[in-house]
Amino acid sequence: MSADCLFCKIVAGKIPATKVHDDALCLGFLDISPQAPLHALFVPKRHLATVGDATTEDRELLGHLMFAATKVAREKGVLDSGFRLVMNANRDGGQTVFHVHLHLLAGRPLTWPPG
Ligand code: 5GP
Ligand code: ZN
Repeated sequence: MSADCLFCKIVAGKIPATKVHDDALCLGFLDISPQAPLHALFVPKRHLATVGDATTEDRELLGHLMFAATKVAREKGVLDSGFRLVMNANRDGGQTVFHVHLHLLAGRPLTWPPG
């Protein structure tokens, strides 16, 4: 846990969030400012600031986030209609919270390329 990290506080239950997934390695919860009818974030329970900090030991963890997000996409009924998984990294990637998170966006047609 990083003391001043927002998502560490959500993982610790110190800041409330609407959970959509919870297991030993990761937590999934709804984004506070949804950009699509379904917008959830999947975060490792252990603090990792940005994906560039990941080591080979984090490979399984990163795959785990994708697997959890896809499981929720299935549960929410958007697996076949479609969804998007996004991980923003650092300044040009638009990362604003420095605790790794995978966005799950679904429920409307998503345009490409992104802004
Ligand atoms: P980023 O821009 O870093 O990829 O995404 C950060 C996301 O965290 C944004 O979509 C933002 O709406 C979301 N967010 C920021 N603060 C909170 C919060 O306190 N609770 C929740 N559930 N989401 C948050
Ligand atoms: Zn953190």
